[in-house]
Amino acid sequence: MNISQQISEARELILARIAHATQVCDRQADDIKLVAVSKRQSDDRILAALSAGHRVFGENRVQEAQAHWAARRAEYPDLELRLIGPLQSNKAADAVALFDVIETLDRESLASALRKAIDTQNRTPRLFVQVNTGEEDQKSGVNPNDLPDFLARMSSTHGLKVEGLMCIPPVEEAASLHFALLACLAANAGLTKLSMGMSADFETAIRMGATSVRVGSALFGAREG
Ligand SMILES: *Cc1c(COP(=O)(O)O)cnc(C)c1O
Repeated sequence: MNISQQISEARELILARIAHATQVCDRQADDIKLVAVSKRQSDDRILAALSAGHRVFGENRVQEAQAHWAARRAEYPDLELRLIGPLQSNKAADAVALFDVIETLDRESLASALRKAIDTQNRTPRLFVQVNTGEEDQKSGVNPNDLPDFLARMSSTHGLKVEGLMCIPPVEEAASLHFALLACLAANAGLTKLSMGMSADFETAIRMGATSVRVGSALFGAREG
Protein backbone atom coordinates (compact mmCIF):
# COMPACT_ATOMS: atom_id res chain seq x y z
CA MET A 1 0.00 0.00 0.00
CA ASN A 2 1.49 3.37 -0.96
CA ILE A 3 1.51 6.45 1.23
CA SER A 4 -1.55 7.98 -0.45
CA GLN A 5 -3.64 4.89 0.22
CA GLN A 6 -2.33 4.64 3.76
CA ILE A 7 -3.25 8.20 4.63
CA SER A 8 -6.58 8.03 2.86
CA GLU A 9 -7.47 4.88 4.82
CA ALA A 10 -6.22 6.29 8.11
CA ARG A 11 -8.36 9.38 7.51
CA GLU A 12 -11.48 7.30 6.78
CA LEU A 13 -10.87 5.29 9.93
CA ILE A 14 -10.47 8.42 12.09
CA LEU A 15 -13.61 9.96 10.59
CA ALA A 16 -15.48 6.74 11.38
CA ARG A 17 -14.19 6.78 14.95
CA ILE A 18 -15.26 10.42 15.28
CA ALA A 19 -18.72 9.52 13.96
CA HIS A 20 -18.99 6.64 16.42
CA ALA A 21 -17.90 8.80 19.37
CA THR A 22 -20.52 11.40 18.49
CA GLN A 23 -23.28 8.77 18.30
CA VAL A 24 -22.47 7.52 21.77
CA CYS A 25 -23.01 10.99 23.24
CA ASP A 26 -25.86 12.01 20.93
CA ARG A 27 -23.95 14.57 18.89
CA GLN A 28 -23.59 14.95 15.11
CA ALA A 29 -20.39 13.87 13.32
CA ASP A 30 -20.26 17.10 11.33
CA ASP A 31 -20.21 19.13 14.54
CA ILE A 32 -16.63 17.92 15.00
CA LYS A 33 -13.79 19.26 12.92
CA LEU A 34 -10.80 17.00 12.28
CA VAL A 35 -7.66 19.16 12.34
CA ALA A 36 -4.86 17.25 10.62
CA VAL A 37 -1.64 18.18 12.41
CA SER A 38 0.97 18.36 9.64
CA LYS A 39 3.96 19.57 11.68
CA ARG A 40 7.16 17.70 10.86
CA GLN A 41 5.46 15.66 8.15
CA SER A 42 6.92 15.21 4.68
CA ASP A 43 5.50 16.88 1.62
CA ASP A 44 4.32 13.62 0.09
CA ARG A 45 2.20 12.90 3.20
CA ILE A 46 0.71 16.39 3.15
CA LEU A 47 -0.09 15.99 -0.55
CA ALA A 48 -1.67 12.62 0.18
CA ALA A 49 -3.97 14.19 2.78
CA LEU A 50 -4.92 16.93 0.33
CA SER A 51 -5.66 14.44 -2.43
CA ALA A 52 -7.80 12.45 0.02
CA GLY A 53 -9.88 15.63 0.25
CA HIS A 54 -8.65 16.91 3.59
CA ARG A 55 -8.56 20.70 3.96
CA VAL A 56 -8.16 21.56 7.66
CA PHE A 57 -4.59 21.52 8.95
CA GLY A 58 -2.83 22.42 12.19
CA GLU A 59 0.77 23.58 12.56
CA ASN A 60 2.69 24.50 15.68
CA ARG A 61 5.40 26.76 14.20
CA VAL A 62 4.87 29.79 12.00
CA GLN A 63 7.98 29.31 9.88
CA GLU A 64 7.34 25.65 9.16
CA ALA A 65 3.71 26.41 8.40
CA GLN A 66 4.80 28.99 5.83
CA ALA A 67 7.04 26.40 4.19
CA HIS A 68 4.21 23.86 4.11
CA TRP A 69 1.37 26.13 3.09
CA ALA A 70 2.16 29.62 1.79
CA ALA A 71 2.60 28.49 -1.81
CA ARG A 72 -0.36 26.05 -1.62
CA ARG A 73 -2.95 28.59 -0.52
CA ALA A 74 -3.68 29.64 -4.10
CA GLU A 75 -4.11 26.05 -5.26
CA TYR A 76 -6.51 25.10 -2.44
CA PRO A 77 -8.73 28.12 -1.78
CA ASP A 78 -10.84 26.17 0.74
CA LEU A 79 -7.88 25.42 3.03
CA GLU A 80 -8.28 26.15 6.73
CA LEU A 81 -4.99 26.61 8.60
CA ARG A 82 -4.85 26.60 12.37
CA LEU A 83 -1.94 27.61 14.58
CA ILE A 84 -1.79 25.25 17.56
CA GLY A 85 1.69 26.07 18.92
CA PRO A 86 3.03 28.98 20.98
CA LEU A 87 3.21 32.30 19.14
CA GLN A 88 5.93 34.91 19.74
CA SER A 89 4.70 38.48 19.50
CA ASN A 90 7.27 39.29 16.81
CA LYS A 91 5.68 36.58 14.61
CA ALA A 92 2.13 37.85 15.12
CA ALA A 93 2.00 39.60 11.74
CA ASP A 94 3.17 36.47 9.91
CA ALA A 95 0.61 34.40 11.81
CA VAL A 96 -2.23 36.77 10.98
CA ALA A 97 -1.20 36.69 7.32
CA LEU A 98 -1.21 32.89 7.09
CA PHE A 99 -3.63 31.37 9.59
CA ASP A 100 -7.42 31.25 9.61
CA VAL A 101 -7.52 30.27 13.27
CA ILE A 102 -5.00 31.05 16.02
CA GLU A 103 -5.62 28.71 18.95
CA THR A 104 -2.85 29.85 21.28
CA LEU A 105 -3.69 33.36 22.43
CA ASP A 106 -2.35 33.34 26.00
CA ARG A 107 -1.09 36.78 27.06
CA GLU A 108 -1.81 40.49 26.81
CA SER A 109 1.37 41.36 24.91
CA LEU A 110 0.37 38.88 22.19
CA ALA A 111 -3.14 40.33 22.12
CA SER A 112 -1.67 43.80 21.44
CA ALA A 113 0.56 42.44 18.68
CA LEU A 114 -2.37 40.57 17.09
CA ARG A 115 -4.59 43.65 17.28
CA LYS A 116 -1.95 45.71 15.46
CA ALA A 117 -1.44 43.04 12.77
CA ILE A 118 -5.18 42.59 12.25
CA ASP A 119 -5.64 46.35 11.77
CA THR A 120 -2.67 46.66 9.42
CA GLN A 121 -3.60 43.68 7.26
CA ASN A 122 -7.36 44.01 7.49
CA ARG A 123 -7.51 40.25 8.02
CA THR A 124 -9.01 38.70 11.13
CA PRO A 125 -8.20 35.11 12.08
CA ARG A 126 -10.60 33.44 14.49
CA LEU A 127 -9.10 33.25 17.98
CA PHE A 128 -8.98 30.63 20.73
CA VAL A 129 -7.43 31.14 24.15
CA GLN A 130 -5.07 28.41 25.31
CA VAL A 131 -5.77 27.40 28.89
CA ASN A 132 -3.07 25.81 31.07
CA THR A 133 -5.56 23.45 32.69
CA GLY A 134 -2.81 21.60 34.58
CA GLU A 135 -1.22 24.86 35.80
CA GLU A 136 2.16 23.55 34.66
CA ASP A 137 5.06 26.01 34.95
CA GLN A 138 6.65 25.04 31.66
CA LYS A 139 3.43 25.12 29.64
CA SER A 140 1.94 28.19 28.03
CA GLY A 141 -1.69 29.09 28.48
CA VAL A 142 -3.82 31.19 30.80
CA ASN A 143 -4.38 29.68 34.24
CA PRO A 144 -8.03 28.71 34.86
CA ASN A 145 -8.43 31.22 37.70
CA ASP A 146 -7.23 34.08 35.52
CA LEU A 147 -9.41 33.18 32.55
CA PRO A 148 -12.52 35.32 33.22
CA ASP A 149 -10.44 38.51 33.64
CA PHE A 150 -8.28 37.64 30.67
CA LEU A 151 -11.30 37.11 28.42
CA ALA A 152 -12.86 40.37 29.61
CA ARG A 153 -9.68 42.27 28.71
CA MET A 154 -9.47 40.64 25.28
CA SER A 155 -12.73 42.32 24.41
CA SER A 156 -12.58 45.56 26.44
CA THR A 157 -8.88 46.47 26.03
CA HIS A 158 -7.96 44.81 22.75
CA GLY A 159 -11.25 44.60 20.89
CA LEU A 160 -10.59 40.94 20.12
CA LYS A 161 -13.40 38.45 19.79
CA VAL A 162 -12.54 35.03 21.25
CA GLU A 163 -14.37 32.05 19.80
CA GLY A 164 -13.24 29.19 22.00
CA LEU A 165 -10.74 27.53 24.29
CA MET A 166 -7.90 25.09 23.68
CA CYS A 167 -5.87 22.89 26.04
CA ILE A 168 -3.01 20.39 26.07
CA PRO A 169 -3.39 18.21 29.17
CA PRO A 170 -0.35 17.23 31.26
CA VAL A 171 1.05 13.93 29.95
CA GLU A 172 0.99 12.20 33.33
CA GLU A 173 -2.66 12.90 34.17
CA ALA A 174 -5.97 11.58 32.88
CA ALA A 175 -6.79 13.83 29.93
CA SER A 176 -10.52 13.57 30.60
CA LEU A 177 -10.22 15.66 33.78
CA HIS A 178 -8.68 18.47 31.77
CA PHE A 179 -11.23 18.15 28.97
CA ALA A 180 -14.02 18.41 31.55
CA LEU A 181 -12.42 21.48 33.12
CA LEU A 182 -12.01 23.17 29.74
CA ALA A 183 -15.65 22.46 28.87
CA CYS A 184 -16.74 23.92 32.20
CA LEU A 185 -14.64 27.05 31.74
CA ALA A 186 -16.02 27.55 28.24
CA ALA A 187 -19.61 27.15 29.40
CA ASN A 188 -19.06 29.70 32.17
CA ALA A 189 -17.61 32.15 29.66
CA GLY A 190 -20.38 31.55 27.10
CA LEU A 191 -17.91 30.16 24.53
CA THR A 192 -19.03 27.36 22.22
CA LYS A 193 -15.81 26.08 20.61
CA LEU A 194 -13.47 23.60 22.28
CA SER A 195 -10.18 22.44 20.73
CA MET A 196 -9.11 19.37 22.67
CA GLY A 197 -8.06 15.78 22.02
CA MET A 198 -5.14 14.37 20.03
CA SER A 199 -4.33 10.98 18.45
CA ALA A 200 -4.44 9.11 21.77
CA ASP A 201 -7.61 10.60 23.22
CA PHE A 202 -9.76 12.33 20.61
CA GLU A 203 -12.79 10.09 21.24
CA THR A 204 -12.73 10.94 24.95
CA ALA A 205 -12.46 14.63 24.06
CA ILE A 206 -15.50 14.38 21.79
CA ARG A 207 -17.53 12.77 24.55
CA MET A 208 -16.57 15.70 26.78
CA GLY A 209 -17.62 18.33 24.25
CA ALA A 210 -14.71 18.91 21.84
CA THR A 211 -15.74 20.73 18.66
CA SER A 212 -12.35 20.19 17.02
CA VAL A 213 -9.73 17.50 17.56
CA ARG A 214 -6.05 17.83 16.61
CA VAL A 215 -4.78 14.56 15.16
CA GLY A 216 -1.24 14.13 13.85
CA SER A 217 0.45 10.76 14.13
CA ALA A 218 -2.71 8.64 13.90
CA LEU A 219 -3.37 10.21 10.50
CA PHE A 220 0.08 10.78 8.99
CA GLY A 221 2.23 8.27 10.85
CA ALA A 222 5.21 9.08 13.08
CA ARG A 223 6.75 12.54 12.72
CA GLU A 224 10.26 13.20 11.38
CA GLY A 225 13.06 14.34 13.65
C1 LIG B 1 1.67 17.76 17.76
C2 LIG B 1 0.40 18.25 18.33
C3 LIG B 1 -0.79 17.53 18.20
C4 LIG B 1 -0.89 16.18 17.49
O1 LIG B 1 -0.37 15.17 18.28
P1 LIG B 1 -0.61 13.61 17.90
O2 LIG B 1 -0.44 12.92 19.19
O3 LIG B 1 0.42 13.27 16.89
O4 LIG B 1 -1.98 13.50 17.37
C5 LIG B 1 -1.95 18.06 18.74
N1 LIG B 1 -1.94 19.25 19.40
C6 LIG B 1 -0.82 19.98 19.54
C7 LIG B 1 -0.88 21.27 20.26
C8 LIG B 1 0.39 19.51 19.03
O5 LIG B 1 1.51 20.25 19.19
